[in-house]
Amino acid sequence: MNDAAKRYLAVEKAVAEKAKGCTGSGSPVRLVVVSKTFSADVIEPVIEAGCRTFGENRVQEAQSKWPDLKQKYSDIELHLIGSLQSNKAEDAVELFDVVQTIDREKIARAIAKEMERQGRLLKFFVQVNTGSEPQKAGVLPDDAVEFVNWCQSDVGLIIEGLMAIPPFNENPGPHFALLRKLAGEAGLSKLSMGMSGDYLEAIEFGATHVRVGSAIFGSR
Ligand SMILES: *Cc1c(COP(=O)(O)O)cnc(C)c1O
Repeated sequence: MNDAAKRYLAVEKAVAEKAKGCTGSGSPVRLVVVSKTFSADVIEPVIEAGCRTFGENRVQEAQSKWPDLKQKYSDIELHLIGSLQSNKAEDAVELFDVVQTIDREKIARAIAKEMERQGRLLKFFVQVNTGSEPQKAGVLPDDAVEFVNWCQSDVGLIIEGLMAIPPFNENPGPHFALLRKLAGEAGLSKLSMGMSGDYLEAIEFGATHVRVGSAIFGSR
């Protein structure tokens, strides 16, 4: 077992304990282990330790390591957590199981078309730019509910929840709360929020998916 595998087990335990303390129902929180920039030989011991849910932010980088790992471990669920260009839709649909970063009509249409062509069915989150930051991906909070409805009714995507990356140097709590409120308005039950520095706080705000990289693999 490598250091990353040991830290994975510790983070998984902390997530489970926090989830038990927060949700009366004790519904589990999914730990998405973010393996970007790390190679297959560092990732594999984490898989061997039991992890089956991983996140990558670049399609091309993911293609360099995940096809072999997914063949060897057939029950892995791979999440795309970085923004997607429509010319990468074909590759993304081939490799990923969940895309957390749907945020514009063009990409929603491109993905839907590819799923039909390949006969693969992915699941999705809509990314929300909760801080309305000009440089950041995601739909604006005011547009989120309408965009979710459009993705479901006009394109037929299975939108499971909302995802956000709060502004880097702000208290994330209000952003987590906003994401939860918008998900409620959109009728969605899943919330992908919280990273290495704030995943326990995100669970207090109702996160169902936390995305943790450096707390497991070390700094990038
Ligand atoms: C890299 C990344 C993470 C993980 O960040 P850490 O701080 O290393 O845990 C989570 N979400 C997204 C969208 C990322 O790009």
